[in-house]
Amino acid sequence: MSLLNNSEWYDLARQTNWTPRYVSERELFPPELSDPYGIPVSEWAKFDEPYKVTYRDYVRTQREKDVGAYSVKSAVDRVAFYKTADPGWKALLQLHFGAVPFVEYGSVSAFARMTRFGRGPGMRNMASFGTLDEIRHTQIQMYFGYEFLSVDSAFDWAQKAPNTDNWVVVSERHAFDDVEHTRDAVSSAIMTNFSFEQGFTNLQFIALSADAKRNGDHSFSAMLQTVQSDEARHAQIGEPLLEIMISNGKTAEAQRLVDISFWRVWKQFSALSGVCMDYYTPLAKREHSLKEFVDEFVCQQFMRNLKALGLQKPWYWDEHFLPDVDTFHHAQHIGMYLYRKTGWWNPVASVGPAEREWLETKYPGWNDTYGQVWDVITESILDGNLDKTEPPLLPMLCNMSGLELSGVAGKKWNVKAWHVDLNGRRYHFGSAVDKWIFELEPSRYRSHLSIVDRFVAGLMPPGPDGVYEYMGMAPEERGRCGQDYQWAEAFRNRKAA
Ligand code: MN
Ligand code: MN
Repeated sequence: MSLLNNSEWYDLARQTNWTPRYVSERELFPPELSDPYGIPVSEWAKFDEPYKVTYRDYVRTQREKDVGAYSVKSAVDRVAFYKTADPGWKALLQLHFGAVPFVEYGSVSAFARMTRFGRGPGMRNMASFGTLDEIRHTQIQMYFGYEFLSVDSAFDWAQKAPNTDNWVVVSERHAFDDVEHTRDAVSSAIMTNFSFEQGFTNLQFIALSADAKRNGDHSFSAMLQTVQSDEARHAQIGEPLLEIMISNGKTAEAQRLVDISFWRVWKQFSALSGVCMDYYTPLAKREHSLKEFVDEFVCQQFMRNLKALGLQKPWYWDEHFLPDVDTFHHAQHIGMYLYRKTGWWNPVASVGPAEREWLETKYPGWNDTYGQVWDVITESILDGNLDKTEPPLLPMLCNMSGLELSGVAGKKWNVKAWHVDLNGRRYHFGSAVDKWIFELEPSRYRSHLSIVDRFVAGLMPPGPDGVYEYMGMAPEERGRCGQDYQWAEAFRNRKAA
C-alpha cells in the first residue's frame, strides 16, 4: 500500500474546528480559558505551526532520542563519576535535580490545557506533542537524578521537592504558576512558549550542557540536550500566537504578557542558572559567564525574535534588566551560601583567589562590591567563627519573586526597598519591576504568603527547628558548605604574609 506524503494530508487532517451541536461554542471554549481577547475563530485557525509533525514521525523521533540519551547513561558509570566529582559540580547537580523536574511536570498540564482550550487546530496539535515532551522531560530527569540516590540523599528532592514548602520551591511555584498555570490558553502559551522557553531554556539546557561536557559529565550533557531538542520545537507555539494577536490589534496586550513573564522567568533563571554557571561550575572548566550567555541567547537571539514580530524590548530593559544581569545572582549566591541550611544542596562558595580574579574579569567591580561581603565571611571562617557565617532566619523575601531582597553590596552600595501597602498589609519587593507586576493586578497576587509571611502568621511549628520542619527538612537534609570551608584556607597564608 502506498502512503500519501505528509504534506498532502497534514493541513486538511488537522482542520478540527468543528461546529458543536450539543453544547454552545462558549461552553466548549469558555473565553476565560480559551481567549479573553475576543479574536475571531477564523483568525485563530490561521495558526500555522512552523514544525509540522505527525504522530507517527513524532514517536519514531522521540524513541530514537530516548535510546540515544539512555545509552550514554548506561555506558557511563554515573555513580563513580559522581563520587569523584568536584564539590561545585555536585552542588550543581543537587540543585538542578531538585529544582527542575517538577517544573517540567507542571508543564505537562500547561500544554494539556493549551491542547484542550487553544482555538487554533495547529496550536492544539503542537501542544499535544508538547504535553508528551514534558512527560518525557520529567521522566528522564527523575530517572537520571535518582541514580545518585544511593550515594547522596539530596537527590530524593527530585521527587520530594514539589511536596514541600521549601522556600526555593515556593519561589519557583509562584513564578511558574503565574506564567504557566493560572491564565487562559493564549496568555499562558505566550508566557510559557515565547518568554520562558524561547527566552531562557537555552541557558539551562544548551549553555549548561556545554559546561557539563567540559566537566566530563557526558550523560548529564546528553540529557540536557535531548530535553532542549523538544523545547526548540514546542517553544515555536508562541510566535504564531503573537502574530495573530498583533494583526488583530492586541499588540499592547501581547507586549504586556511578554514584559511580565520575561521578568518573572529571568529572576528564576538568574538565581538557578546564574549561580550554577558563575560559582558552582569548577573554574577550570568554565568557558562563559552568565552574563556572556545571557548576552548571546537573550540579548541577541531572543531580542531579534521579539523585534521581528514587531514587539519592543521590555520597558525596564536598560534601567533594570541589564544592571540585574551584572548583580542579582551574585547577591543570591551569597544568600544561598549563608542560609545554606535552608537548601537541600551543599553550596560551594567558590570565591578562592583564582575564582575572585575570574569574577573581577567577567564583572568588573566585583571585588569592591560582593567581594567585600566575602572578605567578611572569609575572615569569620579563618577565625573559626562559623556561627557568624550563618545569619539568623529568616531573610526578607520579595513578595513577587520569593527570593531574598538584595542589592549591590560594598563600595557601590545600592539597596532600595520597594513596597506597596494594601488592605493593611505591606508587600515588599526586590525591584521596581516586581512591584510593577504586583500593581498591574493586585487581586492575582495579594493573597500569596511568602515564607516570611507564613512565619509571622504563626503557620510554622514552634521552636528553633520550626522553619525547617515547615520546609520538610530533617537535620540531615539541610545544606552545608560543600567544600567544608577549605576554600578559605588559601587566604590564611596571604593574611599571614
Ligand atoms: Mn521541558
Ligand atoms: Mn517545554
